[in-house]
Amino acid sequence: MKSTRQICSLTSSRPTLEGAGVHLRRALGFDEAPGFDPFLLLDDFRSNTPAHYIKGFPWHPHRGIETITYVLRGQVEHGDSMGNRGTIGAGDVQWMTAGSGIVHQEMPAGDPEGRMWGFQLWANLPASHKMMEPRYRDVKAAQIPEVPLPNGTKVRVISGAIGQVRGPVQGIVTEPVYLDVSVPPDTHFVHPIPAGHTAFAYVFEGEADFGQPAGRGARGGLAADGNLVSFSDGDQVAVKTGKAPARFLLISGKPIREPVAWYGPIVMNTDAELEL
Ligand code: MN
Repeated sequence: MKSTRQICSLTSSRPTLEGAGVHLRRALGFDEAPGFDPFLLLDDFRSNTPAHYIKGFPWHPHRGIETITYVLRGQVEHGDSMGNRGTIGAGDVQWMTAGSGIVHQEMPAGDPEGRMWGFQLWANLPASHKMMEPRYRDVKAAQIPEVPLPNGTKVRVISGAIGQVRGPVQGIVTEPVYLDVSVPPDTHFVHPIPAGHTAFAYVFEGEADFGQPAGRGARGGLAADGNLVSFSDGDQVAVKTGKAPARFLLISGKPIREPVAWYGPIVMNTDAELEL
């Protein structure tokens, strides 16, 4: 008998100013991260106002983590100090393993209507991989399989698998699953997640019921646009929609369980390592 994960927390992304003055919504950050190991941060940057994103994220370093950028609308121009240049367009993913260090800039550019929308997730690296060679996985929209399920649900598989269909991003040490799930109204969606792995969902369209609260004080019930739901342990996540459809990111990964020393875009194990 598979055990269904319950809801540990249900929170709302909050307005945050980042980079050179980008107005975004932070769903997960420094204060919550201890409960989301191996994940550190999730930002939702959507805006129809170019002045709110155009200043972007000029030159800055990263070390010890991975940054995963998923663009829904508009594009992000990317460049790094090693001379790499590229554009992440609608539907594309850039999975960047900063490893020992990278200095880059990320500059959002809206679509022709001036609209921008994307997500950035930070995943931690274990001590054994923090100083690995930097690596990019640039995934174009067409390389990301969209799996239609018999109940009408559609899943874009960035990493992890739906049935026999595996996403293009593989071989990551924390075994992450990154799915973009669209569930029609009045539909059940159930997805297996390895027991012991951290799992959460971030809703960005519609609303859905992600299960029962895990204990006293936990909030259950419907999660809507902008809500982050974290799950208790178990073998699977079960989602149910009512009158409205829902679209959400479903993300899981293997916890690292190491000390975290985090200063801005650099995340190591000890304060001494931040000085280097
Ligand atoms: Mn960055």
